[in-house]
Amino acid sequence: MDISAKLAVFGSVNLDIVATGPALPAPGETVTDAVLAFHPGGKGANQALAANRLGGNISLFARVGSDDTANKALYLLKENGVDLTGVLIDSNAKTGVALIAVNDVGENQIIVAPGANDQLTPQQALSSFDQSSPHDGILCQLEIPVETVVALAEYAKANNQFFALNAAPAKSLPYSIFENIDLLVVNENEAAFYGDHLSICKGLIAITYGARGAALFKGKKQIAKASPPKVSAIDTTGAGDAFTAALTLALVQKHNPEDALKFACAVGAFATTKPGAQPSFGTAKEIAAQF
Ligand code: ADP
Repeated sequence: MDISAKLAVFGSVNLDIVATGPALPAPGETVTDAVLAFHPGGKGANQALAANRLGGNISLFARVGSDDTANKALYLLKENGVDLTGVLIDSNAKTGVALIAVNDVGENQIIVAPGANDQLTPQQALSSFDQSSPHDGILCQLEIPVETVVALAEYAKANNQFFALNAAPAKSLPYSIFENIDLLVVNENEAAFYGDHLSICKGLIAITYGARGAALFKGKKQIAKASPPKVSAIDTTGAGDAFTAALTLALVQKHNPEDALKFACAVGAFATTKPGAQPSFGTAKEIAAQF
C-alpha cells in the first residue's frame, strides 16, 4: 500500500521514566531494589514515529523543555528522520515526563508531568505550521491543550485539509470540533466516554477493540469492520498509536476505507509483538512480510 503522504502531527513529547521493582509503594513508603529504564513516549511523538516508519513524510509540531530529557525523548524520531523543525524549545518549562512504577506482576502507578506540552498554544502551533512547507493532512491527539486542537481543526477546515483526531486521553471537547473532523479515532473506553457526541462527527469514526480489531462508522452506520491477524501479543503499549498513524496515512492517501482499516489493524497488531511503544513500530515492509 502506498502511504507516502506528507502528514503534520501535532502532539505531546514525553520521556517515560520506568522503575520496575518488587512492589508498588504505599503513600509515604519507599520501595528499593527497582531497575530503571527510560522510554521515549508521548502520543504525538509515538504517532509521528509510527507514521514515519510506515513510509509517511512526517513533521512533528510540539513543545519541549530546554533540557537533556528532550534529547532522550526525541532520539528515535531524529534517528528515523522525522522533521523536527516544528518542535519548539520552551526555556520556562520542562520536557513532559511520565513517572511509572511497575511491580513484579506488571501492575503500575503513573504520574504525568506534562510540562512544555501544556504550553503549546494555538498561536505557536499555527505560526510554526504556516512557516512549514504544505502538508496533505493534520493529525492530533489530546495530550496538548484542547484549544490548540480546536484551532487546528478550524484551520484545517478553512484550508480544505484532512484533519484526523485521536481523541485520547478522553477529555471534554466543544461540540463544534466534531464538525471539523475527517477522521476520529477512539478505543472502546473512549467511545463510551464520548457517547452520542461521536455521531455528530461529519467524517469517519474508527473504534478500536483491542485483539478484536476495529470498525469504521459514518454517523451511526458501520461502513467497514476488520480483525487483526493472530499474533502472540507481548506488550500492547503503542498499539493504538500505530493503528491511528496507519489509518490516517492510508485515508489521506485516498485508499478505500475497508483496505485502510485492514491495514491499520495489521499495523496495530504488529506493535503488540515487541516490547515498548516506539521500538515496536513496524515498517510497511516488515508488516507486509509478517502478515
Ligand atoms: P488502544 O491502545 O488505543 O487502547 P487498542 O488496544 O484497541 O487501542 O488497539 C488498537 C489496535 O491494535 C486494535 O484495533 C488491533 O488492530 C491492534 N491490537 C491491539 N491489541 C491486540 C492484540 N492483543 N492482538 C492483535 N491485535 C491487537
